Amino acid sequence: MTTHLELSDISAGYGEASVLHDIDLTIARGEIAAIVGANGAGKSTLLSTIAGLIKPTKGSIDFDGSAIAGRRPNELPEQGLVLVPEGGRLFPFMTVKENLELGAYSPKSRATIATRLKEVSEIFPLLRERYSQLAGRLSGGERQMCAIARALMSRPEMLMLDEPSVGLSPLMTGRVLETVAHLAREEGLTVLIVEQRVTEVLAIADQAHILDHGRIVRSGAASILQNDRQVQETYMGM
Ligand code: ATP
Repeated sequence: MTTHLELSDISAGYGEASVLHDIDLTIARGEIAAIVGANGAGKSTLLSTIAGLIKPTKGSIDFDGSAIAGRRPNELPEQGLVLVPEGGRLFPFMTVKENLELGAYSPKSRATIATRLKEVSEIFPLLRERYSQLAGRLSGGERQMCAIARALMSRPEMLMLDEPSVGLSPLMTGRVLETVAHLAREEGLTVLIVEQRVTEVLAIADQAHILDHGRIVRSGAASILQNDRQVQETYMGM
């Protein structure tokens, strides 16, 4: 398996407040990696750091063999790395179609916008029916699907998802996670997912990493961590 994303000795935070400490993390191409941890452990900060929204104070980040730490966030989608932020952050007063088109903003992507729209509506047929509807009118589940679809418009190689289940029913969460699993298994997409619904996310993940107070304290196969008593008691409410 080839390495797709690699963090070495990454520390990052907000001004004086240091949040992440000495993070080493390796994600293989086509794998689903889950980050699990309590509120405030630094999960969103980790995704923001990889996405270039926060500059690390030390360490390196390699994506697809090239160093990306310190790159501007708008450069990363062109390289194939896209973040779906918590809540999706759609533009509520724009239509679904307009939101999707915004996902293909780079000159290279824009040329093939029609093809890409067709591709994502094959993955999310429901969105096609909602093309002319305002994004703000979508249900929580549809909104999350639309946010993922928008991220796919630039045909990324790796998708990072921050808490895709927030505000969703267990049924909708299941659908969203199934879609994510499908994208990894069928389309070869690499996925890094932060999720509070630990039981559900471990069921689709290959690898899982436990973040505690800004440090990765355990990493391993999701199937093993899923059956670990300590993980079950601390993170799965068992
Ligand atoms: P949650 O599940 O609650 O979102 P998390 O694991 O994603 O938690 P982060 O949001 O990364 O955790 O937050 C980690 C720490 O960084 C927390 O102590 C938080 O208060 C702090 N923090 C987050 N965002 C900022 C910010 N913009 N400025 C200063 N501190 C921040």
